[in-house]
Amino acid sequence: MNTAANAAVRDRLRIAIQKSGRLSEPARALLSSSGLSWRESRDRLFCYGESLPVDLLLVRDDDIPGLIADGVCDLGVVGRNVLLEHAGERAGVGASVPFREWRSLGFGGCKLSIAVPEGWDWRGAAQLAGKRIATTYPNQLRAWLHEQQIAADVVVLNGSVEIAPRLGQADAICDLVSSGATLAANQLKPVQVILHSEAVLVGPTQPFDDVRAELADLLLRRMDGVLRIRDSKLLLFQAARDALPHVLQLLPDAEPPTMCAVDGTETLALQTLCHGAMTWQRLEDLKRAGAHGLMVVPVERMLA
Ligand code: ATP
Ligand code: ZN
Repeated sequence: MNTAANAAVRDRLRIAIQKSGRLSEPARALLSSSGLSWRESRDRLFCYGESLPVDLLLVRDDDIPGLIADGVCDLGVVGRNVLLEHAGERAGVGASVPFREWRSLGFGGCKLSIAVPEGWDWRGAAQLAGKRIATTYPNQLRAWLHEQQIAADVVVLNGSVEIAPRLGQADAICDLVSSGATLAANQLKPVQVILHSEAVLVGPTQPFDDVRAELADLLLRRMDGVLRIRDSKLLLFQAARDALPHVLQLLPDAEPPTMCAVDGTETLALQTLCHGAMTWQRLEDLKRAGAHGLMVVPVERMLA
């Protein structure tokens, strides 16, 4: 299965991302910020890489682990929930799992959770014993039930899991939750998280042994740079030397600052990279602690 497709893409890297859905825009934005650009094809399924020999394949998210396992694509951006489900499926039939999570990407956050009817008086997972639980994630649900030593029936559905209890197909469900609004609309409440998920970069378990290795390294270095400074800002300010300890106490998320003396005074000028959000409230707190001339500067690129 593997070799024909693999051989055809050895001198270019091929990345699969979701064609349309929650992960498509952020995945594209991350890759563009890493310096990739593409020529769009008319069917918008395959985009030829222009700035680097890195092409994009636009597919359904559920197909991404399989495309990597088959060597059709080299890397992909997919929810951890989808990745683990496919890994579980392969492991369940005794197949090897030739892909793994290379990086977590900080977007597409959600939880795979057990939800029960609002009327249940939830006292713990043991209450699920003997119950029917509907899900589109049977492998992860079974693994979790096994871990908890709970014997329950897993009802496998292809979609619309949240209406299964109302239709009498199941007693509880196991599904993705972000705000909980869909659950509430179906008179369900989340009671137990079984997986914290977000978008991840998935790649092969074995390293590449041709030109793709260099391309993947380059891309990873750039991506790490983008991820590291995603919420970061450069903070410039001045402070009297004796006020500095108070000011720095308010910057636990900052890199060690670069300082220099303002000529002929006891004042220091500082610059530091801050990784958390730099809100007005924080700036006001810093000013009260003795900082002045505060300036927040966006950081576009960083190469460590
Ligand atoms: P496709 O047509 O590609 O199969 P889909 O309907 O499976 O699309 P989306 O609903 O776009 O996919 O979700 C893609 C991923 O986004 C999920 O697998 C999950 O990792 C993440 N995600 C984040 N928040 C949520 C949420 N509230 N509900 C579902 N998925 C979410
Ligand atoms: Zn899907």
